[in-house]
Amino acid sequence: MRIIVIGAGVLGVTTAWYLARDGHEVTVLDQAARPGEETSFANGGLLHASHAEPWNAPGVVWQLLRWIGREDSPLLLRPGQIPRLVGWGLGFLRNSTTARFERHTAVNAALAVYSLQQLQELRRSTGIHYDEAQHGILKIFHDQQAMDGTRHSSDLMAPLGVRHSVLDSRQTIALEPSLEESREQIIGGIYYPDDESGDARLFTERLAALAEHEGVGFRFGTTVKNVEVRNGRWRSVEIEHERLEADACVIAAGNGAKALAAQAGMRLPIYPVKGYSVTLPLQGWRNPPTIPLIDDARKVVITLLGDRIRLAGTAEFAGYDTSLHTRRAATVLRQAASVYPSLGAHAEQCEPAYWTGLRPMTMDGPPILGPSPVDGLYLNAGPGHLGWTFACGCSRIVADVVGGREPALNLDGMNLQRFRR
Ligand SMILES: Cc1cc2nc3c(=O)[nH]c(=O)nc-3n(C[C@H](O)[C@H](O)[C@H](O)COP(=O)(O)OP(=O)(O)OC[C@H]3O[C@@H](n4cnc5c(N)ncnc54)[C@H](O)[C@@H]3O)c2cc1C
Repeated sequence: MRIIVIGAGVLGVTTAWYLARDGHEVTVLDQAARPGEETSFANGGLLHASHAEPWNAPGVVWQLLRWIGREDSPLLLRPGQIPRLVGWGLGFLRNSTTARFERHTAVNAALAVYSLQQLQELRRSTGIHYDEAQHGILKIFHDQQAMDGTRHSSDLMAPLGVRHSVLDSRQTIALEPSLEESREQIIGGIYYPDDESGDARLFTERLAALAEHEGVGFRFGTTVKNVEVRNGRWRSVEIEHERLEADACVIAAGNGAKALAAQAGMRLPIYPVKGYSVTLPLQGWRNPPTIPLIDDARKVVITLLGDRIRLAGTAEFAGYDTSLHTRRAATVLRQAASVYPSLGAHAEQCEPAYWTGLRPMTMDGPPILGPSPVDGLYLNAGPGHLGWTFACGCSRIVADVVGGREPALNLDGMNLQRFRR
């Protein structure tokens, strides 16, 4: 089949890769000049089945209310966004009951475990490198209640293949000795040995080059202006001065997916949740961790990517605004420096690179994959805070659906259809 993929982020490029390997003729369209220029550009770098919980955990509403308008908080709801959040926001809250949260955690965890297997397989078959590391991930805690909550969701995910061990503070520091410098704060940790890390942009760029070698055509600087549907069937996409036809089309356009799907008459319940990252050279920091760390209370991750250190975090409900606010970016650095005072000192000696991106987040947590109500039009959208983790699994599944094969995982809970029930 001839297939158009809209989007050359990590999801679009992996989709193109699997489709091409299945023998299809694939063209990828992206408005940017290169692969991985939007949300896949400088994320936290974690491939973490351990973090599969959706963000609407029971009780999230109180956290949000507490932090409304507070620029220095890890979670920020801008008051001006409240009217725009009505539909998605109510859905987000509706899905924060214990039963739904646990159900969606299980869907995400199964998808994340499958995705890591697919990534490992892809790595074996291509030899691709992307500053990857397989040291697992360590979550650290400062209070017992938070640790018990994470332990509970980790126990839920264990039967799905997310292995973990619960550690007291001594064991946590023995596993990651660099934490010695914040010994007094840490009451314990949970270690997930099967999680990984790596640079999503490097991966996207390098896989795009491999895909090109497999015959995939990339058209950069190409904005899709319209998705055309007639009589319930996808017909073409409209770009500047041209209409492109094919047998099928996959929308993998990150934060652009919602608008493109709307042109085809579909409503995707996706909202952009803003985050920040800070990248610093590793050289000069005397005490870096080996294992990627998550400090969930502070909403910050600390990851080693080759000769760089990546800090990422914060969640901001600010619409599609991608402007970089220094104070928010500094919050990420400050939160990480509360774990590692030596990192704060290091940051003063070098020039950190700040970045902001929008996580395309569904209102219940899992992404939106597979068929759509329009014949010939498929979706690979809404991966939220897990898009790097999910990339290979989501895209393998979408390629299977497009090719008429049974995907490895049941699509219930991951398709658009679930929002119509
Ligand atoms: C601060 C932060 C930290 C994160 N940390 C992690 C992490 O540690 N682990 C993890 O798993 N995930 C993480 N994520 C989430 C992850 O980065 C995203 O889910 C993922 O990058 C989304 O990939 P994508 O391909 O769907 O979207 P994108 O990478 O945004 O790609 C979409 C592409 O579509 C193109 N496009 C859009 N509209 C059009 C159009 N009309 N015409 C042509 N092209 C179009 C865009 O130009 C873009 O290149 C993080 C996100 C943020 C913001």
